[in-house]
Amino acid sequence: MSVKRTSLAGLPSCEIVMAADLREKYRARQIFDWITSGASSFDEMTNLPLQLREDLKAGFSVYSSSVKESDSDDDNTVKILIELNDGRLIESVLLTDERNRRTACISSQAGCAMGCTFCRTGMMGLLRNLSSAEIVEQYLHLRRLYGDISNVVYMGMGEPLANTDEVIKSLNFFTDPAGLNISARRITLSTCGMTKGIRVLAAEAPPVRLAVSLVSADPDIRTRLMPVTKTNSLDDLKAALTDYQRSGGKRITLECAVIKDINDSVHDAALIAQWSEGLSVIVNVIPWNPASEIDFEEPEQNRVDAFCRELEKRKIPITRRYRRGRGLNAACGQLATDNVSASLIDPTQEQP
Ligand code: SF4
Repeated sequence: MSVKRTSLAGLPSCEIVMAADLREKYRARQIFDWITSGASSFDEMTNLPLQLREDLKAGFSVYSSSVKESDSDDDNTVKILIELNDGRLIESVLLTDERNRRTACISSQAGCAMGCTFCRTGMMGLLRNLSSAEIVEQYLHLRRLYGDISNVVYMGMGEPLANTDEVIKSLNFFTDPAGLNISARRITLSTCGMTKGIRVLAAEAPPVRLAVSLVSADPDIRTRLMPVTKTNSLDDLKAALTDYQRSGGKRITLECAVIKDINDSVHDAALIAQWSEGLSVIVNVIPWNPASEIDFEEPEQNRVDAFCRELEKRKIPITRRYRRGRGLNAACGQLATDNVSASLIDPTQEQP
């Protein structure tokens, strides 16, 4: 039977001191620097005394998780499958854009309880929340394997604001000047619209960018697609976003997965424009990525074009997401590990 050891990746150096009970505090910073520059074993940490390396090997591991598989396509998209220390599997994605800017798309939960009907992860149900260290380790694994990464998006598996404490801890780790020192402007957190979590984020987290999966501004359609709407109404969501921007929050990205014959009409676009009045937003139009288990169809190009034109006519700035990673099931809404089964908890209940 394998022994689960305390892992040190994802811990700030002040916590490494305590976890490893180090008498020489500066050793913690050395360990931190080795881990964040790509070391995956204590043997690589050659400026540590040999005895300390042996002690660390006996009592600790560098990572709590391991990369089981990686897959890439010619879109410059890489997907990695990570095994957590309890055997659960999660996925993370590395995207490289035309300017060679690299973005890590990381998961905040194994599975997801929110039950959005267009999303493969939603079909898994919630397995468990990830710890802050498990969230950060995804970034460290991708950087160790593929080199520097400038941006981070919380858009992988799970709803970040259903795991607020650990997510905020991980945001602090990413942005801490004594930690990874990534600018908050380069980090985006995406939520399905959990209003309580948005308020907590505004009050307690570094000023990262916020994206909201809006999908539809029609209450009936949105409730059908995103059951979270039953407990976090469109009105409440608008109020939370208004307060978020009043307290200094920057422009919000509204993500709209557009699905054939469900929310792809000019009327749907007009409702989104109306709902957005008074907010500073950019709408990210994402033609829905097909998944064999889900009975929706991708929209026709001319419908998406008309949808975008309607938003632009109403002076709503838009971006159209390039359909990357589809061959890997790594595109938006497609992340899911196939060897899991979990009971879907009621997604209409507010998470604690
Ligand atoms: S879209 Fe996001 S919140 Fe909804 S089920 Fe998928 S992972 Fe969860």
